[in-house]
Formats: sequence, structure tokens, C-alpha cells
Amino acid sequence: MEAVVASVSCRSFSTPISSSSSVAADVDRRCPPSSAGSRVVCSQSLQKDFGRLHLRSSQFLSGTDIGASAPAAGATHGRNFSMAIRANAAQVLNDVASPTKEETTVVNVDLGDRSYPIYIGKGLLNEPELLQRHVHGKKVLVVTNTTVAPLYLSRVVAALKHGGNNVQVESVILEDGEQYKNMEVLMKVYDKAIVTRMDRRCTFIALGGGVIGDMCGYAAASYLRGVNFIQIPTTLMAQVDSSVGGKTGVNHPLGKNMIGAFYQPQCVLVDTDTLNTLPDRELASGVAEVIKYGLIRDAEFFKWQEENIDRILDRDTSALVYAVKRSCENKADVVAADEREGGVRATLNLGHTFGHAIETGTGYGNWLHGEAVAAGTIMSAHMSLKMGWIDDDLFKRIYNITARARLPLRPPGSMDVQLFEDIMAVKSKSCFQPFMVLGIDFGLFLTEVDKKVADGLLRLILLKGPLGNCVFTGEYDVKALDDTLRHFCRA
Ligand code: NAD
Repeated sequence: MEAVVASVSCRSFSTPISSSSSVAADVDRRCPPSSAGSRVVCSQSLQKDFGRLHLRSSQFLSGTDIGASAPAAGATHGRNFSMAIRANAAQVLNDVASPTKEETTVVNVDLGDRSYPIYIGKGLLNEPELLQRHVHGKKVLVVTNTTVAPLYLSRVVAALKHGGNNVQVESVILEDGEQYKNMEVLMKVYDKAIVTRMDRRCTFIALGGGVIGDMCGYAAASYLRGVNFIQIPTTLMAQVDSSVGGKTGVNHPLGKNMIGAFYQPQCVLVDTDTLNTLPDRELASGVAEVIKYGLIRDAEFFKWQEENIDRILDRDTSALVYAVKRSCENKADVVAADEREGGVRATLNLGHTFGHAIETGTGYGNWLHGEAVAAGTIMSAHMSLKMGWIDDDLFKRIYNITARARLPLRPPGSMDVQLFEDIMAVKSKSCFQPFMVLGIDFGLFLTEVDKKVADGLLRLILLKGPLGNCVFTGEYDVKALDDTLRHFCRA
């Protein structure tokens, strides 16, 4: 039986395909030949980005084998071509049954031979070839947690095995929460990897928010001195920030993110549909980092946010895709310029110095990271305003968008000036501070922000000039810092 429509097109080639055999090989990989059945000629569109080929079946006849036959021909950049394709009907049925696939947005993180793509789009977990392309070897360890596993683990496993892909997939499900981001829990990842004989060619996949991404990334960096790793971020925070740029690590009892490594993934796969299950509060927390990109370097993006913040909070797909894309583009630019935070990368920490103090002072987990960053950003902006570095209009815009995002506008009442100063190591020559929270003496406690203390003066990221400009500096009026702390906290 023969039916319908053959149009095979290729477009958006980032590199030429030199012969039909490379295309056919890719098709064979994902569409194993079927043994029997009548023939259907189906419509396929073929595209490639970053070396990836997508096949889309738009017509088929149920229960029949598929073959699109047409003269095989070489394909080069941008030229239409046609080719022979064989796939079994079940596979094509599966393809057609899934919702219409939308364009995948790709942002490249340009780091020479460690460059990698960030794929962003709706329903990307339904595109197995995206994931399979970046899996090395025949063994995969998916690292996730007790909240995310019931939601998405089976889909990731199915995607990895799709098309009869011969790969051993193991998973390790960690407890959920920042308090579990430590060496003891990380050991469970190594245990699973060793017991299941993950080899040097294996791939670790982080499926979850920033906690899982940081932990899995560090496990991948250190297991057998480094194995491949893929990020599948499922919170907005992780999609716009933590999954990109290669910072990995765990907390130490004496300090947050104190043990870690810079280790870049093979790719980042952002399925914005995963945000549909994210609690509102977690979504808003991620918005704080989105706002940050606009403030430090992208005025147009900030203006877009002012017009579209409600769409983001309503989880409008196109708004989410755009917000993630533009955030990732900004982060990718900064990381490409300064991978190891020797300079400009520090500007990504706008609001974080005050924010980390809030997280530390309130006890980790009580305030979400983005909530603390939001209040910290308002405090940074206030300090900039006091020094005349930004005008009143910009301060009001920052305040308004933060309020509309339903994020905190000031630190919690429990934070007083002294606590801020102690945690932020203001005016200290030492990175280690005597530290006490809720009556518990933590002894010498090191926070991430203390790394920004240089020559006895705390350096801060502050806004300076028109919207989209900031500085990382220790040269500010200390009185302005004091005024800001007193404005927002009790003495
Ligand atoms: P998180 O990982 O704790 O996730 C927040 C909560 O959402 C968790 O309970 C999680 O299980 C749940 N969750 C995740 N995806 C979900 C989904 N799709 N549906 C329902 N629930 C879901 O927190 P986070 O905000 O994603 O990340 C914060 C962490 O990221 C911190 O540890 C921070 O230090 C780190 N971080 C790292 C970087 C970096 O560059 N590496 C940058 C920023 C933050």
C-alpha cells in the first residue's frame, strides 16, 4: 500500500552534510528497519542544528511499515534533498501522537572545545534524539530527587531507550532539599555509580533543580576523574542560571558551595513544560535571576520583562521560552568571557551578597535563593541610589517589577544590621567570621560572599549608570552601605 506525500527538506544546517550516508546513518539509528509490512511514502522534514537531525512524520497509515522512497542524494548546506527512510509504524505512530513539535531554540555556550548547546523549548523531553545525541558510552546514571523522580524520571529513561537504543540506564534518587546538598548524600551517587559499574565512557544526567544540578555536576567532575554529564534543569532557577556555566558543588557544614569544581556539561536540555508542575513560589524565585540579567547588562530584556512579567508568572509558554533563552544568552556571554569568575562573571552576583547573608542569617531553606536575591537586589539598588549612581526612576522600576513578581522587597525582620555586617564580613580582613544564628554558635563560618572580601573591604556588585549597567567594586561610600542596612533593618 502506498500513500501520500513525500517532501524531504533540509534547512538551517550549521555544518554541511557531505553525503546521504551520514543522514541515512542517523535515520537508521533512530528508526530501526522493520522486518515486514506494506509500504507507505510519508512526509518527512529533516533539519539539523548543532549536528543534530530531526525527523518529523506528518502522515502515516496505522499498522503499516513506513518507507519514504526517493532517490538518495548528497546534501549540502541549505540544499533540498531526498533520501530513503525506513521506520516501523509503531515508532512513527508515537511521533505523530505527540503534540505538534515546536521549534527548538538553541543557545551555544562558546568555550572552545568545551562548548555546548542549551536546547530550550516546549516538550523537549519528548524528543529522544536530542538527549541520545549527547550521551556517550552505553551507561547512563540519572541523578534526581524524591520530588522530581515521580514526575519526570520515567520519561527521561524512556527517551534514553527510545528506538531500541542499547543503553544501560540507572538512577539514584536523593532526598529533596538544600540541607541534603552535602558530601554524605553525594556519596550515594558515587555508591550507585560504582555498584552499577559506570565506566569512564558513561554519562551522568542531572534531572532536577539547582541542588541536583550542582551535586550531579560535581559527582560527574570527580567520579573517575571526570565523566560526561548532561543537565536537565526542571526549575526556572536552574533553567536560567544554575545549569549553565559549569559551577558545580556541595555545601560544607561551615559554608555554602565551599566544595566544588568548574565542570561544563555536554548539553543543557530545557523543557519548559516541566515548569508546569513547579510551585508558584519556586517559579517566582527563578524570576529574580531573570530580572538580574536585565539589570546588569540587558536593558531591552528588562523592558520586555516589565511588559511580560504576568505572562511569565502565568506560565505562558512563549514568554517562558523567551525569558529562558534571553537569560541563557546573557549568561553564556558572560561565562564565555570569564569562565572562572576572574572578573565580569562576578556581576552575575548582583544582590547575592545581601542575599546570601539573608539565606545564612535565616537558616538555609527558610528563604528561597531567589527570594533572598530579590531582597538583596533591592538593597543593592538602594545603595546605588544613595550614592547617586542610579536615578530614582530606575529604583522605582526595580521595586515595581520585584513586587509584581511577588518577591520580597526587604529582608526579614530577624535580620539586624549587626547580623548583616557579621555575615557579609564588612570591614574584615579575615574571610572567616565568628558566627551565630538562632542561638547556635557555628564557630568560624565561611560564606560564599566572603570570597568577595579583598584587602579588608567587601566588594559589591552595584548598579551604575543607565539601566543595564553595573560595577563590581570595593570603591563605594561605606556610609551608603551603612545607610542602606539601617534603612532596611533594625539597628
Ligand atoms: P532546588 O533544586 O531545591 O529546587 C526547588 C524545589 O523544586 C525542590 O523541592 C525541587 O525538588 C522542586 N522541583 C524541581 N523541579 C520541579 C518541577 N519541575 N516540578 C515540581 N517541583 C520541582 O532549588 P533551585 O532554586 O532550583 O536551585 C537552588 C540551588 O541552586 C542552590 O543550591 C544554589 O546554590 C544553586 N545555584 C547554583 C548556581 C550555579 O551556577 N551552579 C547558580 C544559582 C543557584
